Amino acid sequence: MDPSPILTDEIFAAFLKCRYKAYLKLRGAAGEKSDYERSQAELAAEYRTLAMEDLLRRHNGVAVIESPPSLPEAFQAGAALISGATASDAGESCRLDALERGGRTGAMLAAPYTPIFFVHREKVTAHDRLLSAFGASVLSRVQRTPPEFGRIVNGKNFKQSKVALATLSGAVCNTIGQLKALTEDTKAPPLVLNKHCSECEFRRPCRAAAVEKDDLSLLSGLSPKEIAEQNRKGIFTVTQYSYTFRPGRMKRVVEAGAGATTQRCRPWPSGRAPSTSRRGRQSRTPRSRSTWTWKARPTRTAIT
Ligand code: SF4
Repeated sequence: MDPSPILTDEIFAAFLKCRYKAYLKLRGAAGEKSDYERSQAELAAEYRTLAMEDLLRRHNGVAVIESPPSLPEAFQAGAALISGATASDAGESCRLDALERGGRTGAMLAAPYTPIFFVHREKVTAHDRLLSAFGASVLSRVQRTPPEFGRIVNGKNFKQSKVALATLSGAVCNTIGQLKALTEDTKAPPLVLNKHCSECEFRRPCRAAAVEKDDLSLLSGLSPKEIAEQNRKGIFTVTQYSYTFRPGRMKRVVEAGAGATTQRCRPWPSGRAPSTSRRGRQSRTPRSRSTWTWKARPTRTAIT
């Protein structure tokens, strides 16, 4: 393994979805991309082209530098727009879809660039914002001035929204700290299947490992919080968890006209054992129909 792998935006995004995935990516592992991941990557690439064209239309006639090999040199050139740049500093790297020069005409060169990110989806998620804040944090070190805010362009109407970078800086530092700890860790974090698995490139080996371990995360009805809680109690497998199942209390439903009532379970409905004699059985003819039901807990289903 590379002793000091670069923390890229891809690894950062992987960490936000699954800690175990980030661990694998940090060690250079590559899986078989799912159809969903491939189609999303194609959509993102197409959208980048369209969104950049829209941005150029808005900045008609300005100087543009495309995919500069050196970002500091592109800053020196003072272009109003920079597209397809990569900011790298201190072992961290992030692709920036576009950079827009801020400030007024007189102070152009001193003004920081605003990072712009393109999101092809109609909805911007918290992960999109955090990822853009990560890019902005690397950019602020390269241009030696923090941008005031970031910008996300998303959806078919190229809607623009601001990202308040200051409010996300704590979360970004925390995530980078955890990623650096993961880099140095020799022990892999626990493999916990989650809702991202179905589209993840490591889905097959991870599922096989989980089945082999009879891992609790095979039960999709359990949240990561509930799994962690069971782990604290010493329950790690589905078999162990199955022994904790208790059927609900037995209830007697008495159908007496419109007002149905329930009674708690007793050894015998009448409070005493039924008579086995013929006369006794005849005298026990019920006045109302009654049934015994189990109020069972919801069943848990495994991931298919
Ligand atoms: S398949 Fe699931 S558990 Fe495995 S790395 Fe991907 S997201 Fe994580």
